[in-house]
Amino acid sequence: MRRPAIPWRSRRFWLVAALCLLLCLLLAAGGLLALRGDWRYRLSLRLRRYPPPELTVLSAEGMTARPLDELLADPRVTVSAELLLVNGSHPVPDGFSPDLTDEGGCPMLPAALEAFRRMNNAVREQTGTRLYVLSGWRSAAEQEQEWLSGGEQLAARPGYSEHQTGMALDVCVLGYGGMSFLKTDAGRWVNNRCGEYSFIIRYPDGKSEETGMSYEPWHLRYVGAPHAQLMMESGLTLEAYLELLTPDTLFRSGEYVILRTAAQTVPTPDSFSSCSVSDDNCGYRIFTFQLCEG
Ligand SMILES: [Zn+2]
Repeated sequence: MRRPAIPWRSRRFWLVAALCLLLCLLLAAGGLLALRGDWRYRLSLRLRRYPPPELTVLSAEGMTARPLDELLADPRVTVSAELLLVNGSHPVPDGFSPDLTDEGGCPMLPAALEAFRRMNNAVREQTGTRLYVLSGWRSAAEQEQEWLSGGEQLAARPGYSEHQTGMALDVCVLGYGGMSFLKTDAGRWVNNRCGEYSFIIRYPDGKSEETGMSYEPWHLRYVGAPHAQLMMESGLTLEAYLELLTPDTLFRSGEYVILRTAAQTVPTPDSFSSCSVSDDNCGYRIFTFQLCEG
């Protein structure tokens, strides 16, 4: 007599079971992603493909070579520190002492405060929520306290923190700080749009090998225009962006001309409305000329 077939011994049974399991897993993952805006956002970050930055190399023809001293004395020129690189191998320069202003008990650089206010107004308009600054400038002693309580993964060593420059801000939405900042519309908005307001997400997802820090969606760094937008639109860290600015090469981006140089004579566009000069903490100065319209 023929023995009845046992279903779990058949190949078809296991195939159907595996397919059902896969379907359940996909449904569960889909359900979780639908519920968790922060996970959905991080997945979209991982899948995002970035175009190269909109920088074109420019010839110095027609520009005037001006001695550095003379250029720095030009009333249209401002000395800033917006592109100062501070990381595990580039400490805050000795004697660096920023002129600070205060935002509700959080000191920061006036230019960073102004940019932050503009961005916060936009966040409020677009998402109905406002941002709060949890931490701005920190003294070396305060940074040491952070470092001792948080450890290397959460805070940089004293002397190696951007917070000591007055250009870094840790922001949150009421009740949503740290990684949960991304659970809010405002948090995701800031992570997508801060480049338009002269800020970058200084420690982006998946770039810890370049920055030395894991993803911090709450830590903003003021770098000025057009640099912030160029970095955010092309997914570049500050480290990678500075690497891209070949010394003594003129770059044009929209209404800006950018030059990174250690030279004492600077090719200068004939008609510029303003120029910001920033030390990069790597041995160069970066000149950002804003050209006159028309
Ligand atoms: Zn921070």
